[in-house]
Amino acid sequence: MTTLDTRTTTDADPTNAEVAAADTGSVFHSWSAQGSVKPLPLAGGSGSVVWDHDGKRYLDFSSQLVFTNLGHQHPKVVAAIIEQAQTLTTVAPAHANATRARAAELITARAPEGLNKVFFTNGGADANENAIRMARLTTGRDKIISRYRSYHGNTGAAVVATGDWRRIPNEFARSHVHVFGPYLYRTEFWADSPEQESSRALHHLERVIQAEGPSTVAAILLETIPGTAGIMVPPAGYLRGVREIADRYGIVLILDEVMAGFGRTGHWFALDAFDVRPDLITFAKGVNSGYVPIGGVIISDAIAHAFDERVFPGGLTYSGHPLAAASIVAALTAMEDEGVVVNAATIGAEHLAPGLTALADQHDVIGEVRGTGVFWALELVSDRATKAPLDAAAMGRLKSDLLGLGLLPFTADNRLHVVPPAIITPAEVEQGLQIIDQALTNLAR
Ligand code: PLP
Repeated sequence: MTTLDTRTTTDADPTNAEVAAADTGSVFHSWSAQGSVKPLPLAGGSGSVVWDHDGKRYLDFSSQLVFTNLGHQHPKVVAAIIEQAQTLTTVAPAHANATRARAAELITARAPEGLNKVFFTNGGADANENAIRMARLTTGRDKIISRYRSYHGNTGAAVVATGDWRRIPNEFARSHVHVFGPYLYRTEFWADSPEQESSRALHHLERVIQAEGPSTVAAILLETIPGTAGIMVPPAGYLRGVREIADRYGIVLILDEVMAGFGRTGHWFALDAFDVRPDLITFAKGVNSGYVPIGGVIISDAIAHAFDERVFPGGLTYSGHPLAAASIVAALTAMEDEGVVVNAATIGAEHLAPGLTALADQHDVIGEVRGTGVFWALELVSDRATKAPLDAAAMGRLKSDLLGLGLLPFTADNRLHVVPPAIITPAEVEQGLQIIDQALTNLAR
């Protein structure tokens, strides 16, 4: 086994090869066959750029797993973590803590009216887990309806609420039902306009609820904009229609804003663009740019009050951990002071939308460009007419070419997601688009 302790270059920083060997010798990786993982070692980062141990720099167009909305090493967030560590590094959830309370206040201040409490979790999956629990306990019903094209996390109920392939080896939780959502490019509803797609997807959702028995359905759980599943911005009216259906049958509406929330779409919450008020919002990632693990559920007054007398049967040792809470306070304050959410909206409207559309004009492999803010997907196809997805081998070539050219990409299935930090500058966008242009040109050769 290679260890960093026994490497020969003890007087210098480790090399990529040394770090990669130590990693694969001792770290068990997510969602991977362990024998084939080839992790890219990263040594440091600043803003929208990261670098490896051999000095190669990458423009981070992945925001890691779509969470560094403030970029890497924001000095005020790093300083707040250090300051909190020097004051009170940890405290049990049962105590009152000023930093935790301030973090909750800053979060609810940005949420829609009537959602005034936060239950803190360790990340996004357990946020969904607890939102599902709240919906089940307050309705006395069991079933959770979510989309096939979705990802809600890796724990018991969250991974079964997930619609993509990661659900299938993990189906141990009960009472999950899936529906198709609006996705006009690959419509399940033979629709040829966003309006048709929306009304047919709503009809399908309501028919599934009726067939399942409305009195058995606790919650509809949707990503406001499905992220890993393909960044499908819902057509106008869809989410309002879902709200109406939920109200008609007394169903709790949970919007998962783990990836889409906190500036990614050019709004504080993705739901701000859709005139919809859910009963529960789940969040993680962008709330503190992932500097310290944390997530949570923002709770409507009605659901919060349901537990005024009744015990809420859920908790986590590190719920509202002060290091994470301090990073939330600093991150949200910096985002406000530095106009980061506005920057994401401007970058989306003035740079990524036209830039990616221009790439689609140049490259037939781009079947569709869709997104908003700093949350975009290029749907790559081997044939524009049939929309046949680009195969895994070609996606692999594209990914390694992008890395070689100095861009850290986020790929999923046949898509390249363009998801840089919300602080990205127009010049960095231009640089990234040039690299993507070059890589797509190489791919066509
Ligand atoms: N929900 C959505 C929409 C996500 O994108 C993710 C993670 O990518 C999760 C939930 C799970 O979050 P975590 O990995 O922090 O548990």
